[in-house]
Amino acid sequence: MKKFGFMAVLLFVFILAFPHNGQAAAGSAKIVLDDKELSLSGNAKVENVNGNVMIPLRVVGENLGFDVAWEKKTRTVTIQKDSKVMKLVVGQKTAEVDGKKTSMNIAPILRTDTVIVPIRFVSEEMGLTVYWDNQKKIVNLYTPNFGSGNGDAGTGAGNGTNPDAGSGAAAQVDGISFSDNRLMIAVTGKAKVNDFKMSGPDRIVVDLENTGFSDTFSSASLDQNKTGSLDVNGYPDVSKVRYSLYNSNPSTVRIVIDLNYSKNYKLTNDNGLYIVDLNTSDSGTPSKPGTSGKKIVVIDAGHGDHDPGTTGVTGKKEKDFNLAMALKVGKILEQDSNFEVVLTRSDDTFLELKERAKIANDLKADVFVSIHANSAGSSAATGSETYYQREASKTLANVMHKHLVQATGLKDRGVRYGNFHVIRETKMPAVLLEVGYLSNKNDEAALFSESFQQRVAQGIADGIKEYLGVQ
Ligand SMILES: [Zn+2]
Repeated sequence: MKKFGFMAVLLFVFILAFPHNGQAAAGSAKIVLDDKELSLSGNAKVENVNGNVMIPLRVVGENLGFDVAWEKKTRTVTIQKDSKVMKLVVGQKTAEVDGKKTSMNIAPILRTDTVIVPIRFVSEEMGLTVYWDNQKKIVNLYTPNFGSGNGDAGTGAGNGTNPDAGSGAAAQVDGISFSDNRLMIAVTGKAKVNDFKMSGPDRIVVDLENTGFSDTFSSASLDQNKTGSLDVNGYPDVSKVRYSLYNSNPSTVRIVIDLNYSKNYKLTNDNGLYIVDLNTSDSGTPSKPGTSGKKIVVIDAGHGDHDPGTTGVTGKKEKDFNLAMALKVGKILEQDSNFEVVLTRSDDTFLELKERAKIANDLKADVFVSIHANSAGSSAATGSETYYQREASKTLANVMHKHLVQATGLKDRGVRYGNFHVIRETKMPAVLLEVGYLSNKNDEAALFSESFQQRVAQGIADGIKEYLGVQ
């Protein structure tokens, strides 16, 4: 019956671009829940801790109808609503959700009279979709059925009186499938259908009110949380189709098509067979590849989370450098309407190498640039290298390297062949940049300086522009 957490959050399409030294900028950020601004009283504020956006737990929890309790002795926050119980301890990365352990990439931090937690925890455990508006400095949070015209998800869901799928529902979903770029939903009985588009990330939502899942469907296609998903490999528009018993009173089935970019669709109903057809000629926004002329650039910040990459002479981590650079390059390119920029990660998240390549391949990106920093046994090694793996990437490598070396001002170590997964398995021209050596004291200091990062980000952006012929 619990739907909290069913919204998988595709953070890689968001640009959580707080300035790295930007406590002040982050501190003035607002939190908006379902388009209503939350009042941040006292010391409660949004913070950026090493690139992680942290938000005050109490403010958000209470606005979602959770009871929030603080036990000083054990430094434990307990937040609770109905049968959902979450326990977090200040300074500990492991939290407890409904008795099960779950880990955060950064531990909760105690501020004067509030505890701040990573935004990712809130999105995953409270089922919120998060969207960071970098221009206005607003953390936008959306409860799952916001926009469905169905009121307040936070209080509507899980009131405990109408426990199961199908009970009291006038209609039943018998089957969900996806083929030929069409989502098909077979429904018996009379459902009230509400469909709409959402962005950040782009998706199409179909809510079937007064509807549950049939027993056959439930036993075959739903997990114990009453959620499931379809395999949609090979469809460039779509990254995932997922469904859930989204609300129990009134019983509502929600089906979400996670899109790789905004896309128009047509919904038809033929005798209970609902078809969401993505084969429409008019694209939703100019971001659809192939039709808009926009160039799709994927920037890959190497490593992340438990994989720090290499560690510098003074202990600085490669993953942090890579992320800061990717965010900066993304920000520069985003200002140019010729580009659609996608970051494989925009926070301290871990992705498998194959996931990084898949993101670029699924998007049919025009270029792929992976950002790294190097290390060597000898602390004397210094300089910048650009790697390619396929013949098709050589020109890109030469152009990128020219700009990279010019921007870093470090020793030119040349364009090189390197058999790295992300530049081998991607299908478009792809390079891997080793900006400098963290094992070298001077390089390390440079790589973590704000002005160096800004200059090199501009150089990388210039290289991409020159290669794609967009000046
Ligand atoms: Zn690396």
